[in-house]
Amino acid sequence: MTDKPAAVCAACNANLYEGRSAIYDSLFEVYACGPSCWSEWYADNEAEYKRKWTEAVDL
Ligand SMILES: [Zn+2]
Repeated sequence: MTDKPAAVCAACNANLYEGRSAIYDSLFEVYACGPSCWSEWYADNEAEYKRKWTEAVDL
């Protein structure tokens, strides 16, 4: 019997298995091995992240 990965790291594509800890980004719904992988993923997606969260407004 092989363990089925519960998720895949968005930064390094490592399989993340049930019962292990990982970082989950609830906005983009991606998983990462840990803070360093998440930072790597965020560095590549910062522009889109900001686009999703920030906008120009009239005051
Ligand atoms: Zn990773």
